[in-house]
Amino acid sequence: MNAEIIAVGSEMLTPEKIDTNSLYLTDQLNNLGIEVVQKTIVGDDRERLRATIAGAMNRSEIVILTGGLGPTEDDLTREATAGALGRELSYHPEISDEIAARFKRMNRPMADNNKRQAMVIEGAEVLPNDRGSAPGQWIQISNSNGSGLTMMLLPGPPKELKAMFEKQCLPRLHKVVPPLVIRTLCLRVAGMAESDVDHQIAPIYTKYANPVTTILAGPSDIQIHLRCRCETEAEAQKLLQEVGGQIENVLGDRIYTRTGEELEDAVGTLLKERKATVCTAESCTGGLLAQRLTARSGSSDTFLGSIVSYAPDLKTYFLGVDPRSILLDGAVSESVARQMAVGVRHRITATYGISITGFAGPEGGTEANPVGTVYIGIASETDCEVKRFQFLGDRERVRALAAQTALDMLRRRLLRE
Ligand code: ATP
Ligand code: MG
Repeated sequence: MNAEIIAVGSEMLTPEKIDTNSLYLTDQLNNLGIEVVQKTIVGDDRERLRATIAGAMNRSEIVILTGGLGPTEDDLTREATAGALGRELSYHPEISDEIAARFKRMNRPMADNNKRQAMVIEGAEVLPNDRGSAPGQWIQISNSNGSGLTMMLLPGPPKELKAMFEKQCLPRLHKVVPPLVIRTLCLRVAGMAESDVDHQIAPIYTKYANPVTTILAGPSDIQIHLRCRCETEAEAQKLLQEVGGQIENVLGDRIYTRTGEELEDAVGTLLKERKATVCTAESCTGGLLAQRLTARSGSSDTFLGSIVSYAPDLKTYFLGVDPRSILLDGAVSESVARQMAVGVRHRITATYGISITGFAGPEGGTEANPVGTVYIGIASETDCEVKRFQFLGDRERVRALAAQTALDMLRRRLLRE
């Protein structure tokens, strides 16, 4: 089934305010197997709103409006919907009484224009609002050809909308919507470009219309979402297994999670399983790696600490880096990365010491090591592995890539143990 969402309110056409209600509604609808095919934001303009609603009614089986149900002149959703449907609005005194009682409970006088909220579209069911004054409305139209239209008028304030949707709309929707199970699988991949991932897995997922596959790309972090719609749970799981399994075969240990968690969480789990600890020595990332390694509660089991040694002298003072290496090879070099990793591991006494030194830019860099060059080292009791990377992008991106890549290097190292 297809749905359409119309967010009403001129404030959402300004740079200050965004329509978040439709994100919530989309999530809820998707869980029922309903696809959102169009979203519109309309300002508080009666004719524009009426035309938008009329268009949506012709296109979609479910039309949800949010906002514009308040008591003021610019709350036009009731009038515009009635206009689009060619139905009358009538005054329901019992709603007005309820709103008046609500105001009385709050010890506030009720302005006369609150009566606007007691106007109900002919044939609509009133949806009580226990978080605010504006009631919602539910309109169900069955056409003679078997097709149907479901419309909902819901309040704008997110708390009111959510409460009303859950209590009033979901039970009604279950009666309208055919049963459907939706299950998802989220595989995440580190250390590969989006185009690479897609090139490798497109031959698999393009064979399937169900599940639907979407790929989201972040800095060295690709999410592969499989979304399966079936009649039964077992069918959905089987299909996800079938397609997900083929993708896993192709990408192998590039996949760091099958549950959609962050890379630091996957690394945290591996560290715990191996009863290993880690410490970091960071230069160009300024603690970004430590920040990620401490993002979850329970990190203290595996993360011991970090030395942010930005100034060259501190690399020597805290980590024991030979000043001659800094002078001859530069602070961004293989030898300094190696000494930082070994040094921090020694100083803090962890299973692994990780170092990051690089040129995040936009200034700096040398001919041999231009902006974007980052050395990452991992020292253990027996060895120290250092890799050189050349990242592209602005300062923020280079730093994010460096931290992400260091986490992935550690993950791969842990997998080998
Ligand atoms: P009220 O009775 O409060 O006037 P209403 O149903 O008329 O409710 P609006 O006046 O359109 O709703 O919006 C009230 C407030 O709710 C807005 O100021 C805004 O903060 C929030 N809001 C409205 N629509 C949305 C939306 N689509 N997404 C997020 N917030 C929204
Ligand atoms: Mg309003």
